[in-house]
Amino acid sequence: MRLTILGCYSATPRTLNNTTSQVLEINNHMFLIDCGEGTQVQLRKHKLKFNRIKYIFISHLHGDHFFGLVGLISTFRLLTREADLHIYGPKGIKEAITLQLKLSDSWTNYKLYFHELTSTKSELIFEDNKVEVHTIPLDHRIYTNGYLFKEKAGERKLNIDAVNEANIDVAYYRKLKQGFDVKNEDGVLIDNKTVTFPAENPKSYAFCSDTKYKEDIVPVIKNVSVLYHESTFLEKHAHYAEKTKHATAKQAATIAKLAHVKTLILGHYSTRYDDLSVFKNEAKTVFNKVKLARDGKVFNF
Ligand SMILES: [Zn+2]
Ligand SMILES: [Zn+2]
Repeated sequence: MRLTILGCYSATPRTLNNTTSQVLEINNHMFLIDCGEGTQVQLRKHKLKFNRIKYIFISHLHGDHFFGLVGLISTFRLLTREADLHIYGPKGIKEAITLQLKLSDSWTNYKLYFHELTSTKSELIFEDNKVEVHTIPLDHRIYTNGYLFKEKAGERKLNIDAVNEANIDVAYYRKLKQGFDVKNEDGVLIDNKTVTFPAENPKSYAFCSDTKYKEDIVPVIKNVSVLYHESTFLEKHAHYAEKTKHATAKQAATIAKLAHVKTLILGHYSTRYDDLSVFKNEAKTVFNKVKLARDGKVFNF
């Protein structure tokens, strides 16, 4: 997986800070997660071939997470896009976008599908043969979901020397990769584990923004490879976090620790802070494997 942070600040776009948007490349998909104002400029700046985006996941309808969406939809039209575009987001997103398209008489020449979410329980919203996407219900001032992106377990790998040694016909290789025991040319049943290697561990990515500290997301994001968790504030401003239903760096780290995630990425910083390293230091008092999102930063995992 490859995660490109297009923007990781809260509130308003500024000269050097962009609001929330990320691109997750997973298998053959290019998923766009949130679409703050200026997202299409960031996509161009980072040379992402954004006509590849077929699925967009919007966490909630605060402007710093979706004010760039109608602009992107409109640009796709100007670029004569033909491929369908699917948008997942809270109920109301269809009305918000289609009203703007209607009043500007700029209907798309491609098919636009809205998948509106209302559930407060985690649900599977997208699936193909390699990837699953689940919602992560969050607790913010308005209805909000994070998203969990999971690779499905791949096939086992053949230990070709052992396969030859066991005298197995090539016609059974597919069954072996799928984990079945098969009979060899002499009619003897061969234990799959003696002639194959385990599949690579499937990777997963959880995006959690915006939210107050919410422990009940822990079972949903348990053991993920990478967790992006908002940390709008530092602990010294925990009262602001409480009031605005955001989280502190320390709270994000506590969630990461409880969920046994491999790596935590912090983001959605309030622009009141000039030095982001303080976020990392604060989180590290609770959880060691912390990285800081920065606009334009790429994470490979
Ligand atoms: Zn926000
Ligand atoms: Zn918000």
